[in-house]
Amino acid sequence: NFEFADRIGRVEPSATLAISNLASELEAQGEDVVNLSVGEPDFPTPENIIEAGKDAMDAGHTGYTTSNGIPALREAIATKLRGNGIDADAGEIIVTPGGKQSLYEMINTLIGDGDEVVLLDPAWVSYEAMVKLAGGSLSRVDLSPYDFQLEPGLDDLAETVSDETKLLIVNSPSNPTGAVFSDAALEGVRDLAVEHDFAVISDEIYERITYGVEQTSLASLDGMGDRTLTINGFSKAFSMTGWRLGYFHAPEEFIAEAGKLHSHSVSCAVNFVQHAGIEALSERTDDAVEEMRQAFSERRDMLVELFAEHDVDVPVGDGAFYMMLPVADDDQAWCEGAIQDAHVATVPGSAFNAPGYARISYAASEERLREAVDRLAAHDYI
Ligand code: PLP
Repeated sequence: NFEFADRIGRVEPSATLAISNLASELEAQGEDVVNLSVGEPDFPTPENIIEAGKDAMDAGHTGYTTSNGIPALREAIATKLRGNGIDADAGEIIVTPGGKQSLYEMINTLIGDGDEVVLLDPAWVSYEAMVKLAGGSLSRVDLSPYDFQLEPGLDDLAETVSDETKLLIVNSPSNPTGAVFSDAALEGVRDLAVEHDFAVISDEIYERITYGVEQTSLASLDGMGDRTLTINGFSKAFSMTGWRLGYFHAPEEFIAEAGKLHSHSVSCAVNFVQHAGIEALSERTDDAVEEMRQAFSERRDMLVELFAEHDVDVPVGDGAFYMMLPVADDDQAWCEGAIQDAHVATVPGSAFNAPGYARISYAASEERLREAVDRLAAHDYI
């Protein structure tokens, strides 16, 4: 008979759970489910990274590391971030077990009871949960009317933020929409952040997965260096989801405070995984990253064409590996029906505060994507 903490009562279990449970049940019954609900690349981790991980274990890199991360990796990350135009130093970086932990540490370092955090909807599920756990209050700006682009939504953002705003979370390329925000949009964010003196988390985890455009790092803009917290990681770009490796960059005074949370919770990221991370950031991985990017790009174009053949117009983003399919008003019912009848698993848009859509991940083979569209059409879901 436990009396649970208030904070845990403020969050719900992941909304994707119902869908993955249904998928597992069907699969256990021997059904073939096309699973487009997962947020991870369907490629193996590049071989040179795996070798570097094995070599690091063989070399005995199996103990704790410096809490904030081994210096060589933080140096490599700082060099990488300087390539993004960020004035980064190894002392301004904390290496975490996955980018999710970076977000958790940043939010809990900055946000306390009643502090206002602004989200751009549709927003990745965990931002809301983390802010609520920290006791923060949420204000939201809906980008759905603007095909998920921020630039046309800047006026709405300007109306939402105020001097009370403590933090805005920006995620470009976006999960779940794939939208890459324009430089003008990011400059608009900068102007508001400076005017109202709030901090911005820039979640750039899909930065290397873009099609024909480049992601600008918010911290590289004039006026943003000392108020931006940049999070990135290895899961998506290098297909390393299970390795759990990510990092964030922030001004040194922020790192000093966040470092307390980091050292008293996770201690450090896994030692040999950090060594593999150095290899991942080397140019030896560039070809593998480009091959994956190319594959995602072709699949995206194929999916858009297939949906167009069924007269479904999908707002297409220029990054990540997701798109939001417009579905019935009750997207939860649509997603449950689609999996039960057509055996195609997607995530309800409501999970991202965007009812009326289903998120499709195209981190699946062209053959499976084709199969999914055929099945959805055959069962009148599109
Ligand atoms: N940020 C976004 C927008 C994501 O989609 C994810 C993963 O799904 C993460 C952060 C965290 O990824 P990881 O903890 O695997 O680095």
